[in-house]
Amino acid sequence: MDILFVASEVDPFAKTGGLADVAAALPKALSKMGHDVRIVMPLYRQVDRRRFGLKPAGMSQQVVLGSQTFTGRIDTAMLPKSSVTTYFIACDPLFDREGLYQTGGKDHADNLTRFSFFSQAALGMLPKLDFKPQILHCHDWQAALALALLRHGRFLEETFYSRMRGIFTIHNLAYQGLFPKEQWPLTQLPEGLFTMEGLEFYGQINCLKAGLIHADLLTTVSPTYAQEIQTKEFGCGLEGLLNARRDQLVGILNGIDQEEWDPASDPHLETHYSVDKLAGKSLCKLALQRSQKLPERHDLLIGMIQRLAEQKGIDILLESLETLLALPLQLVILGSGDAVYQQRLTEFAKRFPKRIAVNLRFDNALAHQIEAGADAFLMPSRFEPCGLNQLYSMRYGTIPIVKRVGGLADTVQDTTASSIAGKTATGFVFEAHTTQALTEAVRRALTVFHDQKLWTQLVQTSMQQDFSWNQSARAYLQVYERALSTTASLAFNDPNRHP
Ligand code: ADP
Repeated sequence: MDILFVASEVDPFAKTGGLADVAAALPKALSKMGHDVRIVMPLYRQVDRRRFGLKPAGMSQQVVLGSQTFTGRIDTAMLPKSSVTTYFIACDPLFDREGLYQTGGKDHADNLTRFSFFSQAALGMLPKLDFKPQILHCHDWQAALALALLRHGRFLEETFYSRMRGIFTIHNLAYQGLFPKEQWPLTQLPEGLFTMEGLEFYGQINCLKAGLIHADLLTTVSPTYAQEIQTKEFGCGLEGLLNARRDQLVGILNGIDQEEWDPASDPHLETHYSVDKLAGKSLCKLALQRSQKLPERHDLLIGMIQRLAEQKGIDILLESLETLLALPLQLVILGSGDAVYQQRLTEFAKRFPKRIAVNLRFDNALAHQIEAGADAFLMPSRFEPCGLNQLYSMRYGTIPIVKRVGGLADTVQDTTASSIAGKTATGFVFEAHTTQALTEAVRRALTVFHDQKLWTQLVQTSMQQDFSWNQSARAYLQVYERALSTTASLAFNDPNRHP
């Protein structure tokens, strides 16, 4: 199959979150299965051209946006450790700046221009590339306009695009790409699409809707999240539309890149270890305690790596901290995000320097060291489409303590009498989004931590879980095959849609 991934971030080129991990690992897995998968992403300032050997593809692409015309230049490089060609669309006025989507906590004012340009250029470049994908797989709101353009924009008339099927993956429904209606001309879509059945959303333009409506099939990153987003509580105002498309919505759990995240060979670690040779894990813990200036004690060391955003439950963590820090445990936090949370965490770190270490930045190496060095990993998310860190944690024998929501519910097996007996327990799961529920789960973890035999059982069971991409990549292939097997588009609001 010939497949094009359209994604606004791809690891290791540029990353703010889990989308980047998936947009790299899934193409790699599909390519290993023999498919021609390529990726297109913007050329941000953050992409290290020299390190990744970017080369000009010798072509450019003009894009009209309202009254302006922008020119994009195409560069290419291989996705590291793969045979996946990646195209980078360069346009310095739009992408050569600090921050992928925002700077100083504020979204770039011209984000619609930037990602409308990206969506149009991604489609427009294809005929010149000698690559005619059967599947256009777009990710999140930044790439969603490409699917609307395929059905309603200038590409509709061109036979080159007529048989392409569109897949849209929702990595996080909360980010919708909302813009004032006055910016509509930037979309290059017909006026008639700015309606409730189209891209209009409470008087604004909603880019995510472009994907939700115009994709042949929709996927999201866990089965539980696929159900949750059809409800008022998690649907972010789009639950009606998602419910109407439920027969075309599939939840597929993210996998992880098992080469990138492997405690037996991770280059960021001081010592390596595996499920059969666990000794190295204690050394990684000592190294982490040392680097974080925490006492080298046998206390339960809890790690957290996350965007400091309300979604991640940082509010209930902060409310629980006084209680938690009265327990014999240590906490290492790595995160960046909302200034208020950063400040409150810094205050705690100053008050309790021997108990809590706070690192306010994006640091991939430290993320690996925390996954290896921590005993447990806390994710009190309000909602979590899939979550990757609990998967990395289990692979590193670091026991997740998570709220039962989204992908966390699908991947972590709570420790109970029966899961202990059946040797299936992998973590600690709590139900309510409250400080009490969170602290109670941590207390349960502490009790088990002091039962070394049982804790080792949890560590071993966690490390033996298979979260590789094999199964999930196959599930995506089935989605692609289903989209291709229909003679006409399945898009929801397509005038040419099969009845
Ligand atoms: P989301 O995409 O909602 O942020 P995920 O759990 O799906 O959450 O993915 C987050 C990814 O970003 C993980 O790979 C995690 O390790 C990484 N990450 C998040 N914050 C940081 C940080 N401050 N430093 C390094 N890596 C981070």
